[in-house]
Amino acid sequence: MAVELDAPLRQHNTFGLPATARQLVRITHEADVRRVLAHPRLGRAPKFVLGGGSNVILTRDMPEVVLKVEVGGVRLLAERDDAFIIEAGGGERWHDVVAWTLAHGFHGLENMALIPGTVGAAPVQNIGAYGLELADRFESLDTVDLVTGRTVTLNKAQCKFGYRDSLFKTALAGKSLITRVRLRLPRPWIPVLGYLDLERKMADTGNTHPDARTIFDWVCAIRRAKLPDPAEIGNVGSFFKNPMVSAEQCRDIITRDPHVVHYPMADGQFKLAAGWLIDACGWKGKAIGHAGVYEKQALVLVNKGGAIGSEVVTLARAIQESVYGRFGIRLEPEPVIV
Ligand SMILES: Cc1cc2nc3c(=O)[nH]c(=O)nc-3n(C[C@H](O)[C@H](O)[C@H](O)COP(=O)(O)OP(=O)(O)OC[C@H]3O[C@@H](n4cnc5c(N)ncnc54)[C@H](O)[C@@H]3O)c2cc1C
Repeated sequence: MAVELDAPLRQHNTFGLPATARQLVRITHEADVRRVLAHPRLGRAPKFVLGGGSNVILTRDMPEVVLKVEVGGVRLLAERDDAFIIEAGGGERWHDVVAWTLAHGFHGLENMALIPGTVGAAPVQNIGAYGLELADRFESLDTVDLVTGRTVTLNKAQCKFGYRDSLFKTALAGKSLITRVRLRLPRPWIPVLGYLDLERKMADTGNTHPDARTIFDWVCAIRRAKLPDPAEIGNVGSFFKNPMVSAEQCRDIITRDPHVVHYPMADGQFKLAAGWLIDACGWKGKAIGHAGVYEKQALVLVNKGGAIGSEVVTLARAIQESVYGRFGIRLEPEPVIV
């Protein structure tokens, strides 16, 4: 087992923040986790699990043992009458797995194309985009307990998925490492087209019955037009969750701001567009130090070049305060702030 000392993390986080891991170990198999736990020096030290670093804000050097998940492999595990079951290693790039399924004729992940990061991190915040979230396509996962080294398999109910939320952000936060995820792609395939941007594509192209490949291409094109590419501008995608409010609260905000972007939810609540709230407070294009608000989408904070984690946190807090001051709504950050 190779232990990298004082490993730079700038290239391991998409915001491009400078930080160093005192010790970094690459996990290519679950046995590697048990080797770390049995190690005389590393075994009892605190651990931090890192995937592709596309949802973390690093504000400091890391004394924890950083476990960089690189478990690979994608395969068709089972072919049932009602679904294909695909199994992927936690270190696979999520988008590569989406592309792999499509290339092999297993449809159902196309709306979640181009989401950065690894397969193992996907259940952590129940990734989602364009009308679909991981929970809709989830079968089970394997996770290794970071104290006992025991592997457990958890099903969908046990993962307690919610909006950008799961057991891995609550009871199991920082306590386990997801090594494998199994995805359930229902048969027959039914396209998910209810999202506004996709409806626009159908109207623009005149194609009202797109196949899975077309939806994949549309989603990639929409995302490329809207979001900064982390390879060019450091960012972690949406910085805040879209807040949920009661019908009464929503009515109250509409009375004051008739243009507020809001979506009714099945449970009677309303989801407000966090980007709209931030934009309404005048933040688009503004910066604090080297951290800024993306000019094209106020929900995305960006590295203007040479940003450090504390600048990002200061900017995020200032945005939270002004949104709270104007709308009485507390925005909750989506990335994990370390
Ligand atoms: C341009 C851009 C667009 C994005 N768009 C979306 C989007 O549309 N929808 C969406 O949901 N997200 C989006 N994101 C956020 C991000 O892509 C996801 O949250 C992704 O799942 C993070 O994966 P990662 O491997 O980079 O995780 P990391 O950032 O490395 O880690 C995130 C958290 O998960 C934990 N973790 C990572 N791997 C494991 C593992 N194997 N086992 C246990 N815990 C683990 C970490 O400890 C940390 O707490 C976007 C990000 C960017 C940069």
